[in-house]
Amino acid sequence: MPLHRDRPGSPGAGAVCDTGLVRLLLVEDDVSLATVLERGLAEDGYAVDHVGRAVDAEHAVASHEYDVLVLDIGLPDGNGLDLCARFRTGGVATPILMLTARDSLSDKVAGLDHGADDYLTKPFDYPELAARLRALLRRPTKTLGPVLEVGDVRLDPASHRVWRGAITVPLTAREFSLLDYLMRRPGDVVSRTDLLEHVWDANYDGLSNVVDVHIANLRRKLELPGAPAPIQTVRGQGYQIG
Ligand code: CA
Repeated sequence: MPLHRDRPGSPGAGAVCDTGLVRLLLVEDDVSLATVLERGLAEDGYAVDHVGRAVDAEHAVASHEYDVLVLDIGLPDGNGLDLCARFRTGGVATPILMLTARDSLSDKVAGLDHGADDYLTKPFDYPELAARLRALLRRPTKTLGPVLEVGDVRLDPASHRVWRGAITVPLTAREFSLLDYLMRRPGDVVSRTDLLEHVWDANYDGLSNVVDVHIANLRRKLELPGAPAPIQTVRGQGYQIG
């Protein structure tokens, strides 16, 4: 399917952030669903590219800058989870919302484990997708500032890169936001509620253990043999770095 770029003449109110029009890649092989979503997203002011195959999604992400990706799991030429993992391994930090017909907890955790930032189970109504996208896009993405440093962990808000010692640590957009939030409060105990409100969304109604899942992934990625874990759990209170 050829790449279709639908740019509305004037930005709508829904999808305009500080940086202008929001560019979204929709990867969905169900043509009727894709048509409905494209129409809604365009009306909300998103600049939408739509592809139906994993190979076209990889090509699109390699050749365009997107602000957010919406990925279906069941694709004719591959699995959206694997695609998501390949994007993350390749250094793509763009927020990813997964779409799937499955509804088991293990699939949701698998989605988050593969680097997705949020998860939506089919069938869903367009306003729910729109709300999830707004929540994903509300988190700060291009905050400029000095490189943050806590112990041997460094985080560069400008380039969205993280290092443990001399080693580059590839993180998902959500893991990056989580680490960024903790590193701006070195020594403070930050509660799960605080993290949910500031790194997710005050109205987040997804998995109740979503913070723990992301912290666990973050810890695993920041592991350095022989060195102490940078993020501590303070029992009954929350998490602490530094
Ligand atoms: Ca599908």
